[in-house]
Amino acid sequence: MDRANILIVGGGVVGCAVARAMAERWSDVFLVEQMPKFGMGASTRNSGVIHSGIYYLPGSLKARLCVAGNRMMYEFCAAHKVPHRNCGKLVVAHDARQEAALEQLAANGRANGVEGLRLVDRAAVRAREPHIEASAALEVPSTGIVSAEDLVKTLARMASEKGANLLPRARVVRMEPRADSVAVTLAEGGTDDPDGPTEETIEARCVINCAGLFSDEVAALLGNRKHRIYPVRGEYCELVRAKSYLVNNLVYPLPHAEGLTLGVHLTRTLWGTVLVGPTADYIADKNDYEGNRLPVEEFLRRAKPMLPELEASDLQLAYSGIRAKLVPPDHGGFADFVIERDAAAPRAIQLIGIESPGLTSSLAIAERVATMAAEILQ
Ligand SMILES: Cc1cc2nc3c(=O)[nH]c(=O)nc-3n(C[C@H](O)[C@H](O)[C@H](O)COP(=O)(O)OP(=O)(O)OC[C@H]3O[C@@H](n4cnc5c(N)ncnc54)[C@H](O)[C@@H]3O)c2cc1C
Repeated sequence: MDRANILIVGGGVVGCAVARAMAERWSDVFLVEQMPKFGMGASTRNSGVIHSGIYYLPGSLKARLCVAGNRMMYEFCAAHKVPHRNCGKLVVAHDARQEAALEQLAANGRANGVEGLRLVDRAAVRAREPHIEASAALEVPSTGIVSAEDLVKTLARMASEKGANLLPRARVVRMEPRADSVAVTLAEGGTDDPDGPTEETIEARCVINCAGLFSDEVAALLGNRKHRIYPVRGEYCELVRAKSYLVNNLVYPLPHAEGLTLGVHLTRTLWGTVLVGPTADYIADKNDYEGNRLPVEEFLRRAKPMLPELEASDLQLAYSGIRAKLVPPDHGGFADFVIERDAAAPRAIQLIGIESPGLTSSLAIAERVATMAAEILQ
């Protein structure tokens, strides 16, 4: 049986960031991912936006880790040559009621420590985005975009260079708390493996659950059923190439009043394409990325108030991602990231409900988890 100081379940952006932070401090770090590659879940099926932190409840983990993570992300990307752009964004209003809501959003952002927020008029919007319709907008200069694929690869490479053991194609299937450790059983390989799946057990002094959509199921392997993840699919369309000139940067509507999502927005990617989305619909199956995809007309309906020139023929369906929501359907309201020691298995740290802004927050989450792990390993 292998022994580990730290075993991280899930090689998305959060697991890779945690592995890098741990490998800088500890030997015998294992990062275990069920898929053949790292970052194939939500981490590369998102908008790639480096969020500013304006939306979240002041004092919440989402607010604090997003604002800290935003700064860390720009520094990290610059230092390690991860493609990114600090392009800023506009949140647009269409009438006086929405303009009042922008003021409130700006006040919330300032309470969270977001700098440089400014309300601008229609002419200023037009100067930046000639095709966007708005009566006013909130300018958010610290927002940007990052190549999530390159970020994940860089974090995984750095973890490996610092000595972490990276195990793709290894799924955690059982966990059993022992006196000074947790015994973690992995099913390795798969049906395409000539030898079929084989099992191996690693005894870890500290286990960190970064399993994203499946983090509730991984927590349940230790008997922890306190939290449940409700999958919420977000679908994207893309503007056809000939129409990508319609959007220069990032343009958002006001977020949904019930707080479920930020609303269908327009994102100019690092590759010059323009994404329209994501939508938000609760689904039954955590692996269902493509069933019953929405028609382009649905994206048109939501984006047209911001971009009146848009036509259905300008849109083509693109990818989708699935959010790890803690809020049940028809419930509404704000749920914070859960990052806590497991009450019954104190050698485990549970990260549950790491939905947006999880990509932005990943480096700050990793620092927080490193401090918690140090208490377990001391
Ligand atoms: C549509 C959409 C848009 C978003 N836009 C943004 C954005 O613009 N900006 C932003 O900051 N955030 C955004 N997010 C949120 C962000 O993508 C997530 O918060 C982040 O990717 C979470 O990373 P993760 O590593 O926790 O999860 P994941 O990337 O899902 O990784 C979890 C990993 O765990 C693995 N795993 C699960 N169970 C097991 C097991 N038993 N054994 C081994 N491995 C296992 C999975 O295969 C997976 O690779 C968006 C999310 C979605 C869905």
